[in-house]
Amino acid sequence: MRARDLLKPRPEGLYCPPGDFYIDPVRQVGRALITHGHSDHARPGHRAVLATRQTLDIMALRYGEEFAGTTQAVAYGEPIEMNGVRVVFHPAGHVLGSAQIAVEFNGLRIVASGDYKRAPDPTCVAFEPVKCDVFITEATFGLPVFRHPNGLDEIGRLLRSVAQFPERSHVVGAYALGKAQRVMRLLRDAGYEQPIYIHGALADISEYYQSQGIDLGRLEPATVEKGSKRDFAGAVIVGPPTAFADRWARRFPDPISCFASGWMRIRQRARQGGVELPLIISDHSDWDELIDTIKETGASEIWVTHGREEALVRWCELEGIAAQPLHLVGYEDEGD
Ligand SMILES: [Zn+2]
Repeated sequence: MRARDLLKPRPEGLYCPPGDFYIDPVRQVGRALITHGHSDHARPGHRAVLATRQTLDIMALRYGEEFAGTTQAVAYGEPIEMNGVRVVFHPAGHVLGSAQIAVEFNGLRIVASGDYKRAPDPTCVAFEPVKCDVFITEATFGLPVFRHPNGLDEIGRLLRSVAQFPERSHVVGAYALGKAQRVMRLLRDAGYEQPIYIHGALADISEYYQSQGIDLGRLEPATVEKGSKRDFAGAVIVGPPTAFADRWARRFPDPISCFASGWMRIRQRARQGGVELPLIISDHSDWDELIDTIKETGASEIWVTHGREEALVRWCELEGIAAQPLHLVGYEDEGD
């Protein structure tokens, strides 16, 4: 059997003809397998959804309980048969509940990894390399220039700034699902014990993380109306990137604008966004993580999805590994 007969790109997303299902479809379909809860991968309106319990819970939080016709929860490592196709979800280390999906039929195994990272992250289960014939990888940071530093070191820079400017507030932009909670957990791991103030858009997801045993410490709403602006002097406030566009951050005393993203490696990008303290914290693999993972899977063929495909495809070819870009559309890397 050819790999393209087991999984093939369609306008709706990656489709498995013998199993009759899609992985992370960008349009509404009959049966969807979802790798994780970011909005570019997990969309509402499918007739049936198979995902981890946590991804299903996150989708319900974001879209309401009626986000799909029917849902089925699957545990990591638990095999499921779909029209004779064997499907297994494995941890992806990207955000809470995130999974790679191994699809196996007639002795051929393809792993669709969704988004993934290898850096340590106590807010989700660590990535697990899976041996396969074809490995489908993202390439959000698929250029050798991207090397993510240690997350705790980046948080250390934030805390030094907090100590240096006790009259000012530090407003940290971070994606609502995953990145925000990782930033909070890193603050706690670095010994920060003060309450962390959060934008309302982060409340439900952060509470869900806490309910799943991810200790984020004391979180307080960042509402200026209730108190004086000065209450936030010396505080760390976390909000979604969109809140910065609507000038939400300006309500706080003399705010220092921080942003936690792998893109902060590019200084120009930080400057254009008015970010004073860029924090290079990413939930995606950097260049070394991508190539180490490709080697570990032992795959003889690599398909590259969203991101900077060309450099990674070229690297594979030089290593003697067949590779091609998949040209899937609709993935905007919400959680970079
Ligand atoms: Zn993602």
